[in-house]
Amino acid sequence: MKKNFWEGYIAPDRVFGNLYFVGTYPASTHVIETEEGLIVIDPGYPEALDTVLENMRAIGLDPMKTRIILCSHGHYDHAGAVKALRDMTGAKTYIGRSDLDMVEKGIRTWAEELGTEYNEAFTPDVLLDDGDHVQLGRTDILCLSTPGHTEGTLSFFFDVTDGEKTYRAGMHGGVGCNTLYGSYIKANGLEGMREKFLAGLERLKNERVEIFLGNHVHNNDTAGKLARVAAGDKNAFVTPNEWVPFLEGRKAHLLSIIASEEREAETVRTITEEKLVMIVRGVPADQMIPLAEAMYRGGVRVMECTYDASGKTPDEETAAIIGRLAKHFEGRMMIGAGTVIKESQVELTAKHGGRFIVSPDTNVAVIRRTKQLGLASLPGALTPSEATTAHNAGADFVKLFPITTMGAAYLKAVRAPLSHIKFLAVGGVCLENIPQFLAAGAAGFGMGVNDADKKAIAEGRFDLIEEKCRALVKAAKA
Ligand SMILES: [Zn+2]
Repeated sequence: MKKNFWEGYIAPDRVFGNLYFVGTYPASTHVIETEEGLIVIDPGYPEALDTVLENMRAIGLDPMKTRIILCSHGHYDHAGAVKALRDMTGAKTYIGRSDLDMVEKGIRTWAEELGTEYNEAFTPDVLLDDGDHVQLGRTDILCLSTPGHTEGTLSFFFDVTDGEKTYRAGMHGGVGCNTLYGSYIKANGLEGMREKFLAGLERLKNERVEIFLGNHVHNNDTAGKLARVAAGDKNAFVTPNEWVPFLEGRKAHLLSIIASEEREAETVRTITEEKLVMIVRGVPADQMIPLAEAMYRGGVRVMECTYDASGKTPDEETAAIIGRLAKHFEGRMMIGAGTVIKESQVELTAKHGGRFIVSPDTNVAVIRRTKQLGLASLPGALTPSEATTAHNAGADFVKLFPITTMGAAYLKAVRAPLSHIKFLAVGGVCLENIPQFLAAGAAGFGMGVNDADKKAIAEGRFDLIEEKCRALVKAAKA
């Protein structure tokens, strides 16, 4: 049976003094033991609650003594079990004010993305704002608003003590960038959240944190530290030098996502504007740079280097050529890969600096991997069904292929009901019929190196290539 995402087991133990870890993998649940009862921070997935309760009992904590349930944010993997735990214990529930709609109405709870359904709605007793304190016994938790991952995300800071020593514990309440991708922000109207997230990271650097907690166990290597606690090191979680580097790391992660999205958008923009993709297949490796330079002089700005489906040229070799071209033409011409029929070729291309992926077929796995890696996707399709499948999988353009014998009339007919899809005409396109394809609504063209070009290359007549490209570029942009 397939293992569910909440089933990873981590043995519960004391973090330090009156603070315990009782969660599962990958979502953390922490318990603070106070003179007046227990505070549970993020009870976790509803499906994991039985494990969490069992964990509490196993280390001598009575779940029925829970007085406060505090949520870092409203997502399913942190707040999903609040309702059940509250119904069982009568504890008061606390959450950041802006996440109210999540837990009360089930909006954007991330449950769907985790492959389940949110039906654990509850109305919190207390809505927290920036700077509020949550108190029980001698424990006083400072709650700081750190929006970004969700609008209501709260970060927590409080003292923990073993009677002799007191340390300051801290947890950022939501560092996942899963909700900070451009596509998610756009789909959910969350503009401005990246800036808020970065500002929150900056702000939290000022907090003194000696015991660094994660609300996901990978944030602070919870499992590794608990293993050290179990082996007798009661200070395993006392790590005053981990907090700021952690925040810096999260900042770098978001900035790399933003940079990758900007690069991807630039690729799509360039193909949209240039319209002409020159396809290079079967040209000797040592002729690639002079050929590409001639194309560049002729005005070409997008060049596709094809993988060899016959296997005679190994994929690594093709990828290395793509890498050399990408480096040579950085900032001048976009280099991508063609005849991509496997995800491994997408990965190789991305690794070597290729910017886009062209395929002869509609392969949803290839399209998805392409978009995951921040490249532009240009899969092949011939029928309306294939074109729609490609578009829905995330293709930026659909290469209508092979359009050779059907010509511009076919493009026009397919495009009529599918005008939201940007079609590139590939196969049988030449200088003479470019105007017909443009009139039929082609967003661009793919054109290969033909026998005449290969002869010119063999003879070193790159001026002929340059001349031909100049005419094609002019026609494509007419
Ligand atoms: Zn979350």
